[in-house]
Amino acid sequence: MHYIDSLTGATYPLEAPRWRGESGGHVNLGDAPGLARRDIDSSAHSLWRYRKALLVDAADAVTLGEGWTPLVAGEWDGAPVRFKLEFMMPTGSFKDRGMTVMVSYLKSRGVTEVLEDSSGNAGASLSAYCARAGMRCRVLVPETASYPKIAQIAACGADVVTIRGSRQDVADAAAAMSREIFYASHNWQPFFAEGTKTLAYELWEQLGFRAPDNVVVPVGYGANVLGCDRGYSELLRNGEIKRMPRLYGVQAANCAPYYAAFRAGVEHLVPAPVGPTVAEGIASSKPTRMREVLAPVRASGGEIVAVTEDEIVRALGALAKKGFYVEPTSAAAAAGVSQLIARGAIRRDETTVLVLTGSGLKASETIGKLLKLGARSG
Ligand SMILES: *Cc1c(COP(=O)(O)O)cnc(C)c1O
Repeated sequence: MHYIDSLTGATYPLEAPRWRGESGGHVNLGDAPGLARRDIDSSAHSLWRYRKALLVDAADAVTLGEGWTPLVAGEWDGAPVRFKLEFMMPTGSFKDRGMTVMVSYLKSRGVTEVLEDSSGNAGASLSAYCARAGMRCRVLVPETASYPKIAQIAACGADVVTIRGSRQDVADAAAAMSREIFYASHNWQPFFAEGTKTLAYELWEQLGFRAPDNVVVPVGYGANVLGCDRGYSELLRNGEIKRMPRLYGVQAANCAPYYAAFRAGVEHLVPAPVGPTVAEGIASSKPTRMREVLAPVRASGGEIVAVTEDEIVRALGALAKKGFYVEPTSAAAAAGVSQLIARGAIRRDETTVLVLTGSGLKASETIGKLLKLGARSG
């Protein structure tokens, strides 16, 4: 196994960690052997139960017990939906699924200090896993990131630096610093999606070793699409499932580069206006892996959906009324499910998984304002 340069096809050894290729383009990992049912270590109640399929040695695992999150049956707009509670991770978001594998890999290859840019959750996750690994960590965040996330990143020991400007400005600032410190961007480093592929395994196992019909995820850079594509493709190649699920990625209409490209029928960035969104975790205007996200979505028969700010807030309230207290970014995916049900793309007789990626506990101030919440005086 080696890194493959996405622009030139050149290969680089995994022994020397890198965040991109000589060409300046991102690098990917080749196909992995994947998993068969008998490979599961059911004594591990974390995603490390799938250790046999991961491209890192389990002896090097830097783990906080992440993964094996609940899959809860319920209803959404009158259709049966399974809610995948990815917000029940050690640091409160699905990012732990990728971070445990990426940090395990980097530590095993001798990296002692890393740099990351993040709207909040990825930084919190990286800071926590670096604390566990005994690695030093610097995280650049937008000035507008919610304070609880900044506090969480700093509490776990990272050096937190705020950068003025857009989410893209933060990413650019980090890339510029990458000569001093190893740039462990989860949006570039392919071992992150090597971790998120366990979402596919987990859903497969929790549904009785079957693929669902539909998986709906919020999409910023697209780690959950990349993970589902990688994981389900491996299961398909190994004969463990009969077909791929339809993959649906949901974006905020105010920042929807994938949606614009999907509509245009292309797999590269097309000019699209960018505005502010309450879904801060998916406010990414320049994602890294356009083709790797769009091609599997199309091939699976799924789509990229865009939802308005009003739809996100409505879904946020409706989820909380069902007991799912998530952050606005996660509610975007639920708003996408509403659209898909309304136009018959998702049907009542199908198995649909809605992935809830981040906890509302980090975003209570914002949620309170959006839903106009308060106590009644007694
Ligand atoms: C990061 C994040 C996302 C988006 O993940 P991408 O890999 O950028 O698509 C969605 N939800 C939450 C809560 C996040 O933290």
